[in-house]
Amino acid sequence: MANTQEILSSKSEVLIEKENKYGAHNYHPLPVVLERGEGVYVWDVDGKKYYDFLSAYSAVNQGHCHPKIVKAMVDQSQKLTLTSRAFYNDKLGNYEEYVTKYFGFDKVLPMNTGAEAVETALKVCRKWAYEVKGIPENQAQVIVCENNFHGRTTTIISFSNDETARKNFGPFTDGFIKIEYDNLEALEKALESSKNIAGFLVEPIQGEAGVYVPSEGYLAKAKALCEKHNVLFIADEVQTGIARTGKLLAVHHESVQPDILILGKAISGGVYPVSAVLCNNEIMNVIKPGQHGSTFGGNPVAAAVAIAALEVVKEEKLAENAERLGIILREGLNKIAEKNDLITLVRGKGLLNAIVINSNEESDLAWEICLKFRDNGLLAKPTHGNKIRFAPPLVMTEDQIHECLGIIEKSLNEFKN
Ligand code: PMP
Repeated sequence: MANTQEILSSKSEVLIEKENKYGAHNYHPLPVVLERGEGVYVWDVDGKKYYDFLSAYSAVNQGHCHPKIVKAMVDQSQKLTLTSRAFYNDKLGNYEEYVTKYFGFDKVLPMNTGAEAVETALKVCRKWAYEVKGIPENQAQVIVCENNFHGRTTTIISFSNDETARKNFGPFTDGFIKIEYDNLEALEKALESSKNIAGFLVEPIQGEAGVYVPSEGYLAKAKALCEKHNVLFIADEVQTGIARTGKLLAVHHESVQPDILILGKAISGGVYPVSAVLCNNEIMNVIKPGQHGSTFGGNPVAAAVAIAALEVVKEEKLAENAERLGIILREGLNKIAEKNDLITLVRGKGLLNAIVINSNEESDLAWEICLKFRDNGLLAKPTHGNKIRFAPPLVMTEDQIHECLGIIEKSLNEFKN
């Protein structure tokens, strides 16, 4: 088999070398250097065009450089970019009204990244537990799931299973009980184990774990159990939210309204770092001035960009498109899997999908397959070793999905030869 890495141009090699020399080695990117994006496509520094089948981990749902979102950013950038929250700005209130009505909550707390929003939600939950639920000080517990991914801060990795992400980064934050994902009995047992349970933090589909979709009814039943025990149901929709799974939120598949909703990534269409925590007054009102914040959170550019990005989701019916194309994509992948034993399983919802490759988690096979996809014009990345996530921008057309299926089939066939 030819070493696919050799296909890189000298221009790409020089730029990769620079990143390797001057940047921290905290990522292992697929060797391709991108310089332009439009809709479902990205182009590398040599002008080669690719389908983006990752969307920056589900952030570019509205497509690369969506003109309406970019215009909102440019227009606002020429007027006022940052004041911090020391003063009011003329965009934030309008955005706060828009986003709370959009998702059906009383209040929003604006932040910048997904991990920040998760941290914020945990703080809000704990404060609520002490001040409203009456849990004794510093005793609140939050239930989390095995194989979760919620970000990279020290508190968040305190309850990660990923030893690479955790090793030698301690000491860690206390107060988390880890249970099996998609296991209601385990949840019930944990809820009954102590009077000090404040919240249950859950991904409606576990994205980083390899797009693990829980059993039908899990989320609705988990929410009901939380209600019974007066425990906050906290949905981390950073990856699953904003139309990705075929509904505006993944919890909507089971008509669940979380007590706390965490959003990031596609709330800005990938144009600008924006994240948000939403909940009702009874919960959000526990946060008082001086207790939480961020210099950039809620800045006018973020507010203008997020309104435009959320408008695009509705105007272009992206949830409906994700639902429809997701079915076509999985059908096509299952057909390929019937003929090609490199794929052992296809799973997902809407346009958040994964194929499981016939190898163990330590094997390089999925990585090699992604290099082959790249050579044939489609960009995807392995997760958890032997799974490859397929999460294209939601502005795809049916013809484009068929073309992508063709690239995937061709690549897998070539790979075997
Ligand atoms: N939560 C979930 C479910 C995620 O998928 C991610 C990112 N992959 C995060 C939180 C963290 O987001 P960020 O990288 O913006 O901090």
